[in-house]
Amino acid sequence: MTVWVLGDQLTREHGPVAKRPDEPVLLIEAYAFAERLPYHPHKLTLVFSAMRHFRDELRDEGRDVHYYQVETFGDGLEAHFVDYSEDDLTIMRPAGGRTDRLRELVEKRGGSLDVVANPLFCCSSEQFDDWVDGRNVDTYRHEDFYRHMRRETGILMDDGDPVGGEWNYDEDNRETPPDDWEPPDPPAFEPDETTREVDEWVADRFDGDYDEPPYGGSWADPDPFRWPVTREQALEVLADFCRNRFTAFGPYQDAMRRESWAMSHSLLSTSLNLGLLHPAEVIDRAIDTYENGNAPLNSVEGFVRQVLGWREFMRHVYRRERDTFAEANQLAATEPLPEFFWTGETDMACLGDVIDGVRRRGYAHHIERLMVLSNFATTFGVDPRALNQWFHVAFIDAYHWVTTPNVVGMGTFASDVLSTKPYVASSNYVDRMSDYCGSCPYHKTKTIGENACPFNALYWDFLGRNEAHLRSNHRMGLIYSHWDDKDETEREAIDERAAAIRKAARRGDL
Ligand SMILES: Cc1cc2nc3c(=O)[nH]c(=O)nc-3n(C[C@H](O)[C@H](O)[C@H](O)COP(=O)(O)OP(=O)(O)OC[C@H]3O[C@@H](n4cnc5c(N)ncnc54)[C@H](O)[C@@H]3O)c2cc1C
Ligand code: SF4
Repeated sequence: MTVWVLGDQLTREHGPVAKRPDEPVLLIEAYAFAERLPYHPHKLTLVFSAMRHFRDELRDEGRDVHYYQVETFGDGLEAHFVDYSEDDLTIMRPAGGRTDRLRELVEKRGGSLDVVANPLFCCSSEQFDDWVDGRNVDTYRHEDFYRHMRRETGILMDDGDPVGGEWNYDEDNRETPPDDWEPPDPPAFEPDETTREVDEWVADRFDGDYDEPPYGGSWADPDPFRWPVTREQALEVLADFCRNRFTAFGPYQDAMRRESWAMSHSLLSTSLNLGLLHPAEVIDRAIDTYENGNAPLNSVEGFVRQVLGWREFMRHVYRRERDTFAEANQLAATEPLPEFFWTGETDMACLGDVIDGVRRRGYAHHIERLMVLSNFATTFGVDPRALNQWFHVAFIDAYHWVTTPNVVGMGTFASDVLSTKPYVASSNYVDRMSDYCGSCPYHKTKTIGENACPFNALYWDFLGRNEAHLRSNHRMGLIYSHWDDKDETEREAIDERAAAIRKAARRGDL
C-alpha cells in the first residue's frame, strides 16, 4: 500500500498521509502537461518546488518517499510498478472531483486505486449535495450557501444570529484609501537552493520562444520568485496577514492602487490551493485576531465570506457543473483574446498595469481580475473559453476547479448557474475604486471620439448587443432604463466606437 499525493495535496496534517503514517508516499513530477500550455514560470516553480520541499520534509521525518521526475503520470506509475508490482495505491479525491483517468492509469499497470474523501475543504461533497437537495431551485446562489455554512459551522454566529446583527458588511468594504495610506509590504521569501534549482530548470526547459502569441513561455516577464513553498512559510504569510494587513483588508477589499499590487489582500490563495494551509485553520486564525480586538468585524466577515463562502462554493459548483462550464457561452461571445493580454502593450492605464503585474508575478487581486480583466474581456466579447485558458496559464493560483467557475460563471457570465447578472461596468467603476484614470491617456468621461475610455463604449455596446438576453433580468432593469434614454444617433456612435476599439485592439494599437 502506498499513499499517492498529487501536487496540490501537500498536507501532512490531513488525509491519507496523516492517517497512514507507516505507509510510503508516492509523488510524481510530470512535465509534459507543463509544456502543453505556456504556464507562467512562477506557477511551475511554485508547484514543483513545493512538491520537492514536501518530499524532503517527509523524508526528514523518516518517511519512505518514492519521487519520480518524468514526462507523464503514466511514466511515473510505470516506474513505480516496476519497483512495486501490483501495489495498492490510495489517493485523496482531487479537488475537481474526477478520478476515472487516474484509476485507468493505475489499473492499466496492474495496480489498484482506492480514492478517499478530500478533507482540504470545510464543506464535504455530501454536505454540499444535501444543501442543494434541500432547496427547490436548480441554480446555485452564493449568499444562501454562505449563510448555510455560517449556521452549520457556528462561525461568526451568536445564538443563531450573525455576530453584529448583519450577514454582510459590504457597505463598509467599498472604500478607497486616502492618498497618504502606506500599503503594508507584501511578504516575500528568498528562494532557497531547492527553489533556485527548480526556477533555473523551469527557465531552461520552458523557454519556448515563438513569434506568435502567447510567445511560448516567454510571454511572462517574471520578477524574482517570492511565493511560499512550505507550510512554515505559508503560516508566516497567514501571521503577517493577521498582524499587518487584516484591518485594512475589509475596507479596501475592492480598491486598486497603481503603486500597490497586493493592497491588503491576504496572498493566501497559493498556499490554500496547494494544501499547505487548511481553510479552517485560516478562518480560526482570522476569528482569533478579531476576538482579540486586532481586526474589525467588517474585515473578518469579508474574509470569512471569501474563504468559507466563495472558495467552497466555487469548488462544489464546479464539481457538479464542470460539463456545463466546459461549453458555456450563453452570450455567444466569439472574439479572440486581444494580444495585449500577453504582452501588456496597451495605453489603457488600468489594464496595462494589471497585466504587467500578471506578467511579473502571476497574480492580480480579486477586483482587478473581475472588474478590469474580465470586465474588459466580457464587454469586448471575448470567447469565455479563450479567457478561461488565459487565466488558467497566467495565474499562480489557477486550478480548473477554481479558475473555471470564477471566469466562466462569474467573470464572463457565460453561464447563469451561479451568477444572476454580468459583472460589467464603465470607467465610472474603475475611476471610483482606483487611481488609474488620472494618469491615463484615455478620457474617463468620454464615450465616443478617439480618446474616449474604451470601457465606456464597450459597456453600452455590450448592453445593446445582449439586450434580448439581459433585458428581462430584473436586476438589469435600472441599467436598461439608461440605455433606453439613448437615441438612435447616440447608439450608432457607440456602435462605431466599439467597432473601432475592436479594430485597434486587433492591430495592437489600443
Ligand atoms: C475572473 C476570476 C478568476 C479567478 N481565478 C482564481 C484562481 O484561478 N484561483 C484562485 O484561487 N482564485 C481565483 N479567483 C478568486 C480570487 O480572485 C482569488 O482567490 C484571490 O484574488 C487570491 O488572492 P488573495 O489570496 O490575496 O485573496 P484575498 O482577497 O485575500 O481573499 C482570501 C481568500 O479567499 C478565497 N477567495 C476569495 N474569492 C474567491 C473566489 N471568488 N473563488 C475562490 N476563492 C476565493 C481565496 O482562497 C483567497 O486566498 C478568481 C476570481 C476571478 C473574478
Ligand atoms: S480612463 Fe478608462 S482605460 Fe483609462 S484607466 Fe480609466 S477606466 Fe482604465
